[in-house]
Amino acid sequence: MKFLTVVASCSYRQRVVVVVIEQGVQMFVIRFLVLGFLAFYSYAMGDQPGGLNGFGTFIAFSGIVVIPAFYMLPTIEAWLRESSNLPSIAAVNLFLGWSIIGWVFALIWAFRKPTPIERAQQFGYQLSQPSFPSQQPDGNKPKKDCPFCGEEILAVAKKCKHCGSELTT
Ligand SMILES: [Zn+2]
Repeated sequence: MKFLTVVASCSYRQRVVVVVIEQGVQMFVIRFLVLGFLAFYSYAMGDQPGGLNGFGTFIAFSGIVVIPAFYMLPTIEAWLRESSNLPSIAAVNLFLGWSIIGWVFALIWAFRKPTPIERAQQFGYQLSQPSFPSQQPDGNKPKKDCPFCGEEILAVAKKCKHCGSELTT
């Protein structure tokens, strides 16, 4: 309930981000812990001087895959979430990930899901301003009835737009 209270006090845009982060964070934590453990485990194994048994060698060589995977985890998260910013996130992750800040930045970016509007634009929809037909430019001008056809016309009209009669006022 505390979470809901926090959500309720946010704007809609923040709320979307918070809810999405909450949904995805559990699976991420699992991946983070597993990959992190394997990466450091294999690093520690590879660092061991002397002979390793078969399992130790396997673990050490698995670091070739696991350590880059751990480093690129923000990109993996972005890919799993079908982020529209995947190329940018991958670039930040790859080139700035060595600094912890760049890694965390890429990760947060990966978690940020596009809003429905951004998703619509991503699929090429043109968002037009809502139009109000009742609010025409001459909507509030004074009107009168044409004495020939009875249709409503502007009070300043010199000629009826319906029947074409000349109006003498
Ligand atoms: Zn008329």
